[in-house]
Amino acid sequence: MSPADAGGEVLAELTGVSLTYGSGERAVHAVHDVTATVRSGESIAVTGPSGSGKSSLLHLIAGLEAPTTGNVSWPALGSSPHADPARAGLVFQAPSLIPSLDVVENIALPLIVAGAREADARTRAREALDLLDIGWLGDKLPETLSGGQAQRAALARILALRPPLLLADEPTGQLDRETSVVVLELMLRVAAEVGAAVVISTHDSTVASRFATEWPMVAGHLVPSAVAA
Ligand code: ADP
Ligand code: MG
Repeated sequence: MSPADAGGEVLAELTGVSLTYGSGERAVHAVHDVTATVRSGESIAVTGPSGSGKSSLLHLIAGLEAPTTGNVSWPALGSSPHADPARAGLVFQAPSLIPSLDVVENIALPLIVAGAREADARTRAREALDLLDIGWLGDKLPETLSGGQAQRAALARILALRPPLLLADEPTGQLDRETSVVVLELMLRVAAEVGAAVVISTHDSTVASRFATEWPMVAGHLVPSAVAA
């Protein structure tokens, strides 16, 4: 899918979605009756305090959790994209690079798994690193990276696959403020270049302000006025 024909495609559609963990007296109603759409090219920040349901909502969008009631579909992606990093790139809190592989190999591996030849995968890995201005990290092992560098390397690994939907749960959670801003700006810039949609969760209003759309959550509910925008 090229960015030119991606405009406005519905990547994820949630209709009357609720998610309850457990049952009976132990039931936790994490998400209540959410109806919302994610289209290509959008940048959305899911905000709210700890426990308001942000991670649960992201997991529903990714297909990592099935709704208890309601429906989630991915019209432009086919089926649930969570198992396929080429369709939905999940950037979760821990960068999870493979310790025995250098950064280029870490980025190339999923490309090879997806069918690329090794030389091509390495070239694309280098391109993704250059896009994030961290070409010089290519030959390093993960243990030698700072937190911010590891986060960027993990982001490069996802961006190399060019997924149409980028999902990140508190992507800046373990970074200092300055590094957070750099990582976010890069994520938004690269997403714009490839025409991807970006959905993140954050409890930081400064982070949220960089996104075109905010979805505030209160006790599992999406605040309706924000969804209409
Ligand atoms: P946030 O990301 O905004 O902190 P979460 O989606 O993680 O919110 O959690 C929403 C609610 O669901 C919280 O009350 C949390 O304790 C509960 N919760 C989250 N995950 C689970 C789980 N796997 N089992 C039971 N309860 C959970
Ligand atoms: Mg969370």
